[in-house]
Amino acid sequence: MQPNPITRASTNAASSAPRPRPVAPAPHAPRTRVLVVEDEQDIAGLIRHTLERGGEIDVEVVASGDAALKAVSEHTPDMILLDLNLPVLGGLEVCRLLRARPNTSRVPIIMLTARTSESDRVTGLDAGADDYVTKPFSLRELAARVRAVLRRGGPEAQAAEPEVYRGTHLVADFDAVSITVDGQAIKLTRREFELLRYLVDNRNRVLSRDRLLERVWGYDRLIETRSVDVHIGRLRNKLGPAGRQIETVVGLGYRFVE
Ligand code: CA
Repeated sequence: MQPNPITRASTNAASSAPRPRPVAPAPHAPRTRVLVVEDEQDIAGLIRHTLERGGEIDVEVVASGDAALKAVSEHTPDMILLDLNLPVLGGLEVCRLLRARPNTSRVPIIMLTARTSESDRVTGLDAGADDYVTKPFSLRELAARVRAVLRRGGPEAQAAEPEVYRGTHLVADFDAVSITVDGQAIKLTRREFELLRYLVDNRNRVLSRDRLLERVWGYDRLIETRSVDVHIGRLRNKLGPAGRQIETVVGLGYRFVE
C-alpha cells in the first residue's frame, strides 16, 4: 500500500529533527508577554486563543484603559495590543500615557481600530502606536503582525550591528539605544528608532517605501506605504536640524545623507 504522501512527509519532518527547532523556546526561556486592552470580550478571547496557541506567548487581557495603566505598572509587557475605542479613557489617550511612561515608552503598541478613515489611523500613529490593524481583521494577519513586531524588537535584533553614527548634529548609538541631537536626548518610538537605524545603515542610498516597509516593518503589503511617510515626518520633526538629513527623493523614496 502506498503511504499517504502528506502523512509520510509530516512523520519524516517530526522524526528527523535531532537538533532543537529554533522557534521552540527552551522550557526555562522567558515567555513573551502581550497585554491586550480590549473591552469586547469575544474579540479579546479570540486574540488570546490565537496568540497563545503557539506556546511562546502569554496574553493578559484587560478591558479598560485604567486597567491597562495599572497592569503595566505591575509588569512591563513585551507588546501591547490596544483597542482604539475603549470606554471612558480612549485608546489614543492610553497610548499617549503609555508613551509618556519610562517603562512603556518603547514597548511596541499595535492599535486595534474599527475606524477606517486614514486620518484616524494617522492619529493613532501620531499618538505613538507602532502599527495598527483595522477591524474586522483576520486573526492570521494579526498574528503575523505581532510576530513581525516581536521579531524586529527581540534580543537578536537589538544585538545586531552595534554602531555609533556621529554627524554634525546627530549622534546615534544604536547599541545603547541613545539618540541625541546637539547633545539633547531624543525620545523615539521603537519604530522610529528602527527606521532611523535602517536609514543610517544605508546612508546615501535611496530607499523605496516598499523596501522600508519590508525591512523596518518586517512584512509586505499588510500596511499602506502612507505609514512610512507618517513615520518619516515624525522622525524628521523629532530630529530637528538633523531631520534635514532625511531627504525625500520624489517618486522614489527616502535617503539619509551624510
Ligand atoms: Ca472597543
